[in-house]
Amino acid sequence: MSRATCATIHLGALRDNLRRLRELAGDARIMAVVKADGYGHGLERVARMLAEADAFGVACIADGQRLRAAGIRQRIVVLSGIDEAADIGEMHRLGLESTIHHASQIDWLAADRNPRPLKVWLKIDSGMHRLGFAAADVAGARARLRTLPNVDRDIGLMTHFANSDVIGDAQTMAQIECFQRIASDMPGAQTLSNSAAVLGWPQARGQWIRPGGLLYGISVATGTSGADFGFRPAMTLSSKLVAINRIAKGEPIGYAATWTCPEDMDIGVVQIGYGDGYPRSAASGTPLLVNGRRAAIVGRVSMDLITVDLRGHDDARVGDPVILWGPQLPVEEIAAHAGTIGYELTCGMTRRVRFLEDMD
Ligand SMILES: *Cc1c(COP(=O)(O)O)cnc(C)c1O
Repeated sequence: MSRATCATIHLGALRDNLRRLRELAGDARIMAVVKADGYGHGLERVARMLAEADAFGVACIADGQRLRAAGIRQRIVVLSGIDEAADIGEMHRLGLESTIHHASQIDWLAADRNPRPLKVWLKIDSGMHRLGFAAADVAGARARLRTLPNVDRDIGLMTHFANSDVIGDAQTMAQIECFQRIASDMPGAQTLSNSAAVLGWPQARGQWIRPGGLLYGISVATGTSGADFGFRPAMTLSSKLVAINRIAKGEPIGYAATWTCPEDMDIGVVQIGYGDGYPRSAASGTPLLVNGRRAAIVGRVSMDLITVDLRGHDDARVGDPVILWGPQLPVEEIAAHAGTIGYELTCGMTRRVRFLEDMD
């Protein structure tokens, strides 16, 4: 028998989420961000369902290769751009676009003899201080790119927000102002907004929005889930009960004995663990659904199994279905219990998890 742990991808949800973004985007075009294997949902599968996206954003050229091999024809932007001079030829071959965030990338382009122009997006560091040209260096970088015959003269302008999930946050306001100050006298399409900014910062739409998480129905704003904004979770993680054991009052459960039974009680054992990508940091009390009803993890998450408090679940039997997250149990809620965000959880599914699809 194969392992019970499954990630079911709801294809209809992906399509509906893109539509919902279209409603929110106004006139802006949508660069659907599908990095990290479509936030763990499966790159090709996601791209096929997002056929109406205007472009895709990926983290690396390898993702672009996979998308082209799958027959995806849209524009594809590699969000961190070329990593070495040798990448330029492959970018051309696949028709990929490069973010340019560092002078070293311009040096590689200047030395390249490929006659065809590469389409580029100039990345401005408006305050996140990860990738991008500092405000004072943007005009110079752009001027240098404009002298290169192998760079398309129509250069896009990009920036990324550090804190846009906090609505009204002063840092985002300052980043928007910084970007607009630099970009106002430069021609070229502008792209600023990740998912949270699409929700919270309508003045930052630009010509292109770059949502990732909301495509998968996931919100990163503390205390919210994608459903609060009209989005549908695109992944259900499920497994089943493989044992139910009666354990006596005072007995400890699991590694390091972090939880003790307060009374004689049934402990369920579910076939999932951190070896599947379920977070080990999920503490006792983290919810899950047994036969569709809430129960809670007790004790440590181990590699292959978790243990569950089955008080109030007298009808539970070995083989019964368990849902770890999905439309009835937001991944954001599990993430909060594990000290992380929903993105990290869906990205973290390991190779032994079986992926299924449904049309929902
Ligand atoms: C990941 C990423 C996005 C998408 O962010 P979400 O929060 O998932 O919407 C947009 N732009 C860049 C540069 C990114 O790295």
